[in-house]
Amino acid sequence: MSEFVYFDHAATTPMAPQVRDAMYPWLGEKFGNAATLYSVGAEASEAMETARAAVASMLGSRPEEVYFTSCGTESDNWALKGVGCVTCSCRGGSERPHIITDRAEHHAVLDTCEFLEGIGAEVTYLDVDGHGRVDPDDVKAAIRPGTRLVSIMHANNEVGSVNPIREIARIAREAGVLMHTDAVQTVGKLSYSVDSLGVDLLSLSGHKFHGPKGVGALYIRKGVKLAPFMHGGGQELGKRAGTSNVPGIVGLGAASCLGCGGRDAEAAREKALSERLIAGVRERIPSVEILGHPTERLPGTVCMVVEGIEGEAMVLSLDAEGFACASGSACTTGSLDPSHVLLAMGLPHERAHGSLRISFGRGSTEEQVDRFLEVFPGVVEKLRRMSPTWKD
Ligand code: PLP
Repeated sequence: MSEFVYFDHAATTPMAPQVRDAMYPWLGEKFGNAATLYSVGAEASEAMETARAAVASMLGSRPEEVYFTSCGTESDNWALKGVGCVTCSCRGGSERPHIITDRAEHHAVLDTCEFLEGIGAEVTYLDVDGHGRVDPDDVKAAIRPGTRLVSIMHANNEVGSVNPIREIARIAREAGVLMHTDAVQTVGKLSYSVDSLGVDLLSLSGHKFHGPKGVGALYIRKGVKLAPFMHGGGQELGKRAGTSNVPGIVGLGAASCLGCGGRDAEAAREKALSERLIAGVRERIPSVEILGHPTERLPGTVCMVVEGIEGEAMVLSLDAEGFACASGSACTTGSLDPSHVLLAMGLPHERAHGSLRISFGRGSTEEQVDRFLEVFPGVVEKLRRMSPTWKD
């Protein structure tokens, strides 16, 4: 069998060799607790601060505005609960904080909002357009007295559309409302700074840009009041207690350096791969719809609906052919529910079951795309022959 092809970089990415090398000593002889005073602890603390500076440099922020977390999900939870809980009744306040988000967010945001509603917050879930994007005018219209936070993702993980965050953040700032963005899918891939976006809070995750799993960060703009997320020790300026994951943090720092270097060239390369894939699929397979915004999109994420076929069937058949791809409807939990993102975009249930997501990373090549284009038409033809819904 030929080489296994990994086309699911939106789910996770392989660790870069430079990241692994940077982490290695911290998994072995350099095991000190960064909170201790003696030299092996101080050395670990120093390594963490070097990593913090690397993340800050990638984001264009101050190092002291970067707080390490365990993942993107935790960063999202902290941003939302930190703002929601500063004011709501669970901390003795009388106010019902109002949060604005949208229906196409990752569950890390949606489920946290649901939790906050349960303890007294009010949440407005904005509709998205047919590409999965939020209209800034809808954000403006939803802001009211008591609105504390706008949380809109930078790029959607299923269809790859990029939201007009700069415009939305400007609206939030003019209204005196904090702006959070879940940038898990764009950090290390698109070039921007937190100031150019205008956000107050930004979530990122190491394993999405060739860093390790189990580490993420939340950018908190200086002066923003956020309730601590974990209580205990004084780590992360007392806001996120817990013994620091030094190897993971060192790896995140190394991935950030890698993310900064050649980011635009890599984005252009992945965009060319996406265009090659889309053109090839359109040429070879009838009744395929490419989802997401045609231009405002992640360079390396392609999501398509292949009429008459379930997404899971395509994923399993492609796996048998040596390709790892994803279906939007199963990307988070393995559930067979239709994708909430595709439903929010207005796709009917049967089409929302039929998406296939291909996402490229630094190791993806033209040859892999060409091999996929050789195999995929046969997979589709076979599945359509068995499909009760496909009418040729
Ligand atoms: N937000 C988005 C947009 C994501 O794509 C993901 C991961 O799929 C997350 C949040 C969660 O990140 P993590 O896996 O680091 O918890």
